[in-house]
Amino acid sequence: MAQYKYGQHLSQSDSTAYDTKHAPGTAAPNAGVYRCAGCGDEIGIAKGHTLPPQNHHQHTPTTVKVAWQLLVYAQQKK
Ligand SMILES: [Zn+2]
Repeated sequence: MAQYKYGQHLSQSDSTAYDTKHAPGTAAPNAGVYRCAGCGDEIGIAKGHTLPPQNHHQHTPTTVKVAWQLLVYAQQKK
């Protein structure tokens, strides 16, 4: 589970960007921390970089697919 110390630097959001599950090996639409909906594994990634492939980590049972879901959005200043 993702952790933080200084909560004043985070804010809650209802954006639909947090609802979409992204297939392994596709481009991350936002920078930030992504969580595998299948097992809870977490990664950090830059916007446009390729999300880890299906063989990034193993699930038990193996029928559970890797699906990356945005957990924390890294917001850049404009
Ligand atoms: Zn997983």
